[in-house]
Amino acid sequence: MQVSKSVAAMQHLAERWRRQGVRIGFVPTMGYLHAGHLSLMRRARREAGGGGKVVVSIYVNPTQFGPKEDFSRYPRDLKRDLKLCRAAGVDAVFAPPDGQMYHAGTVGRDSTCVVEEELSQRMEGAARPGHFRGVTTVVAKLFNIVRPDVAVFGAKDYQQETVVRRMVRDLYFPVKIVVAPTVREPDGLAMSSRNTRLKGELRAQAVALWRAILRAQAVVRQSTAPVPAKRLRAEVEKLIDREPVARLDYVEFFEPETLLPVTGVRRGTHMALAAWVGKTRLIDNARL
Ligand code: AMP
Repeated sequence: MQVSKSVAAMQHLAERWRRQGVRIGFVPTMGYLHAGHLSLMRRARREAGGGGKVVVSIYVNPTQFGPKEDFSRYPRDLKRDLKLCRAAGVDAVFAPPDGQMYHAGTVGRDSTCVVEEELSQRMEGAARPGHFRGVTTVVAKLFNIVRPDVAVFGAKDYQQETVVRRMVRDLYFPVKIVVAPTVREPDGLAMSSRNTRLKGELRAQAVALWRAILRAQAVVRQSTAPVPAKRLRAEVEKLIDREPVARLDYVEFFEPETLLPVTGVRRGTHMALAAWVGKTRLIDNARL
């Protein structure tokens, strides 16, 4: 497995593979890898096909964190991540320092960036101003460095995946975007690097997000008529807020393609929510 820490080395390696006609499957991550990331790597391997190469990037991108967010507390362990990548049969890891991804001294102040202006407005975009600008800018940089044929994203970050697909469509990036299902713990909690911060009671109460999704699914599936979003929102709020350390940030019910909110929720409507569990902010989503 090749480990590149510089943009030039990664570009050089990917360029060599491309000249040999090798297909490249790419999985961008922020590291502290878990079974969700590993499932994306397996998918990338399948997508790249026989003789193809799988590239994983590990980079905690500062520009997608707000000034009061958990950038400095975000879990990191490159040694452990490299071991997991090696065991997963990854061909190359790109793990750049900030000075590589952003020109020296310009972290977050690049004069060129990529902004999606429609799908990124609500939910995570409203709760975390500047977040998607950081995401689309860093993903565009990564695509220009790795130049993958296929990039695999997780359904866990539904809005992110939708925004990235829009960017790729609008800017004609020559890459196929594939979305892999959310991998969950046995009790339903969506796997996340941030879960490592949930100990004891916090971990037990974090499952409330999944319970809220199951509850909404049950209500919608039992009803023949559309269910008022207002009513579902109140139910979700009750479920989350009855946990002593949990607090709902938002829950939205929307059309899966446009992310436009609906007033009547039916089968096929998408649901996304964010909640604080102690000092950790978790998100989850599902098709109802
Ligand atoms: P992150 O390292 O959290 O930025 O995530 C990197 C990629 O892994 C993103 O495409 C995420 O959507 C995806 N991912 C994170 N958690 C999961 C999960 N539990 N199941 C599937 N994909 C995930």
